[in-house]
Formats: sequence, structure tokens, C-alpha cells
Amino acid sequence: MKHHNLNFEKDVVFTSPDVDDLIKQKNYSDALVILLRNQKLDWDLLSKGFDSLQYIKTKTFQFEGFNIDVQFNPGRIKSTTADVSKSAIDNRECFLCFENIPQEQKGINYKDEYLILCNPYPIFFEHFTIVFRKHFPQRISESFHTFLKLSKRLGKYYSVLYNGPQCGASAPDHLHFQAVNKNSLKILNQMNFLIEEYAEKIIDQRKKVVFGINDWLRKIILIKSKDERFITNVFETLYSSFQKSTILQNEPMINMISLFDEKDGWQIYIFPRKAHRPKCFYEKGEKKLMISPAVIDFSGTLILPREKDFEKINKNDIRNIFNDVVVGKELFDYLKSHIRKTI
Ligand SMILES: [Zn+2]
Repeated sequence: MKHHNLNFEKDVVFTSPDVDDLIKQKNYSDALVILLRNQKLDWDLLSKGFDSLQYIKTKTFQFEGFNIDVQFNPGRIKSTTADVSKSAIDNRECFLCFENIPQEQKGINYKDEYLILCNPYPIFFEHFTIVFRKHFPQRISESFHTFLKLSKRLGKYYSVLYNGPQCGASAPDHLHFQAVNKNSLKILNQMNFLIEEYAEKIIDQRKKVVFGINDWLRKIILIKSKDERFITNVFETLYSSFQKSTILQNEPMINMISLFDEKDGWQIYIFPRKAHRPKCFYEKGEKKLMISPAVIDFSGTLILPREKDFEKINKNDIRNIFNDVVVGKELFDYLKSHIRKTI
């Protein structure tokens, strides 16, 4: 059942004395733990979604000094195959608008701007969607500040994720982020090694560091700093030089991870892309692999909603998938040199 004549506070905001206290202390992490526990009890679809995670199949491929997981997850089929063309979007009801969410679904209010909801089709054991209150396009240029703030407020347990409207967001017409437990993202645990082996320092000022990382699957700009203004400057520089070098009308294709801790501040991982989907997605018959990489795939867990793809995928397929969707060396070098010159 859906909501009619929605009353935001009454119908979709989750409250309890504990949660209200935690939010007052700006501890959204522990508020989300309580939300998830309650939603699993009150909302059947969600508890089924999380139960099914126990039976999910995973296998691991070893690359040069790091590894990539492949996850068979049938619950993700809608997201993987989402038609994000303008006509398809115009002709469907937006599933992130609150009048269209299931009546059992409730979320944590974030500053009266966003609602943090549990994702009923999870990839990890904690998986949230952070949804803007208004139906407004997925766009990072105007919401980067919020992206940083959210990752600070959720930083105790979670990292915040962003998928661009043309490279992974299944609702490109409604601004949203995701949050998952930091320990779920393999790349975060492998970061020290990736930096040692594959990184070039683009900027090295006191406590303001930017790396360009090329691990031969992914190309990554990594910003590490406590200084919000510095991070925003680097991001805006990257964004504008990337935008000028692509033909896309709206934003250039990027996926991002942000995490925060009190000691070292932020770490922002930016993955610049050249395509939404790899060639194998469009193949027919045996050659087809139904995969549509987004930020979680870039973090080191590839999602395959079809079991036959999971069974047959090999290391070479993984190399080709990334090669099809990641920017080329020339463009990556240009982006790095632009940041070096500008900052
Ligand atoms: Zn909407």
C-alpha cells in the first residue's frame, strides 16, 4: 500500500526517544542501527531482503596485490537493468518520492532536507538510501557540500556513496546517496597497498593530499584532508575540467565514496568514467554478462543478478568490464595535471 495525502512527520519519519537523543548529539550512525533493527521487525519486504543476503554466493578474483569479489544477487536485477532513458523516466512513478514508498517504510530525518531509508534490496548487511525530500535531479555540483557533511555525521560506522545520473543511479531524476558500513567496501581496506603500489601524489601539502591511483582496473582520484574548502576546491577543479572534456550535457560520469574519521578527516574516492555500461551488457546469448557497474562495483564487489553470469565470469571479463567503462589514460593524465596546476 502506498501513501495518500502524505503527512511527512507522521507518515514517513521514524522517531523514538533513543533516536531523538542520538540525533541531538549528531550521532546519526547509532540512530541508523536502531532504524534498521526496527524496520526489519515492521517491514516484511525488508526482512526478506536481508534474510536473502545470507544465501548469497560470492567468489573472489586475485589481481596484482588486491582482489575483487563477485556477488550473485538476484534482488538487484531491477537496479542493474534499470532503463534510465528520459522517456522511461518520464513514464514511471518515481520510486524515491515519499508518496510512492511502501507504507511500512520509515526513515531518519536529516535536517529536514533528506530522509535516510533502509534499502529493501541490499548488497551488504547494512545498506541505506539517503533521499532528498523534493523530486529534484541527481546532481553533485549543488550537493557536494551535503555529501561531505553526511559522511561526517555518519562516519562512526558508515561511508556515503554517490552514483552520477548517467553512470549507476537508478533514479537519475531524484537526488539521493547511499550509506553502507565502511568494512563492506573492500577498496578501503586495500587502500594502503593501492597507494604504495599504484599511486602518484598530485598534491602534497601539510595534511592536504591528493593521489591519482591506477591499479589497472580502476582509475581513482583520492583526496585526503580535514579541510573542507580544500576538498571542495579539488573536487570543483576536477569536475569542471572533466566536464569540458566530455560531450555530456549534464554532469560528467563519476562515482564517489566519502568517509570521515575525527583523526584524519575525509577521504574522498572519485572514479571518473567514460561509459555507463560495458559492451558485454549489450551482447546477446552466451557473450552477454548482465552487469552495470556503479560505485559498489568500483569499491571491489561486482554485482551480478543472474546466476549463469556468476558461474561463467572470469578474470579477463572483469578486466574488459572495467576497461569499457573507465576513462582512458590520456584523459586521466589530463585531469591529474589540471588539478596539479590549479590547486
Ligand atoms: Zn522523486
